[in-house]
Amino acid sequence: MMACKEFCKKIKALKPSGTTGRYASGQKRCQVCDLFVKWDGNHCPCCGYKLRANPRNSTYKKKNRMLTRRI
Ligand SMILES: [Zn+2]
Ligand SMILES: [Zn+2]
Repeated sequence: MMACKEFCKKIKALKPSGTTGRYASGQKRCQVCDLFVKWDGNHCPCCGYKLRANPRNSTYKKKNRMLTRRI
């Protein structure tokens, strides 16, 4: 069973300043703990659930791809 053990509260990521998005600044979202964390691994160290490193909205992805192509 995947459950929040409150550990995520210690690695909780703060909202980035300016126009930088959470995902763009390397933050990942845990659906179980329902917050953003600053964590290098692919899984939440708190509940073990897979972290989301990209926004659900594909517009962001497309925009990113276009930028990469231009460079
Ligand atoms: Zn948690
Ligand atoms: Zn979690």
